[in-house]
Amino acid sequence: MPQWNRGMEAAEAAAKAASGTRADWFSLKSGDKAYVRPLTDKDDIIVIDVHMGVPTKKPPKGVKADKWPTQMSAVCQDAEAFQLRDGDGSPTGEYEPGYGQCYIHLHMQDVMGKFKRSVAVPSSQGWGLLVMREPVLDARKKLTGFRDITEEFKDKEGHTHRIPKIVIASQSYSNFWAAFKAAGEMTGTICDRDFSVERVDNDYVISAGRETPDLQPGTPGWPTSTRWR
Ligand SMILES: [Zn+2]
Repeated sequence: MPQWNRGMEAAEAAAKAASGTRADWFSLKSGDKAYVRPLTDKDDIIVIDVHMGVPTKKPPKGVKADKWPTQMSAVCQDAEAFQLRDGDGSPTGEYEPGYGQCYIHLHMQDVMGKFKRSVAVPSSQGWGLLVMREPVLDARKKLTGFRDITEEFKDKEGHTHRIPKIVIASQSYSNFWAAFKAAGEMTGTICDRDFSVERVDNDYVISAGRETPDLQPGTPGWPTSTRWR
């Protein structure tokens, strides 16, 4: 098994269960602003090498071109997380079966992606889960607080539930996660408050906002994989 945090795996399973099939990605256009509360704490963010914007194969027969992405990102199979560990948990240089022979590294050195950079050169990305939030206004349009954006989820028995909208953020450390981590330094956590995230071209302006005392780890409002399965 890849050697990353168990809590993260549990949270990811919860996210998958939440949207039925798969969780959406966090994405923001330049000029837009979103409000989020992190479910993944600052020390549990997975950092891994990702090949960005890799051209895909042609769509298979019967799949329309507009339903087939022209490029996708891919986690590098040569990432250290996939190496076997010794007794102390240190990577050995040997890979788990099926890893360590990254196709993109081996075959796509000459394929150029964004900014005229080879797609075979991976970028370090941090992965974490966020709940999307929205402002709550009173009758006079005055801001009174924030609440979770919710979506419908159908369980195995066909019952429909309204649950918080959880997204996966795959973002660079310096551009995105560093601001969250810095905000969490004084409280030891980033899961205790809302954040606003604004995109300006390719940069993010991230500000810590109100505390969310009813939605912290250990409270009934905090998700666990067991509650959501
Ligand atoms: Zn690779």
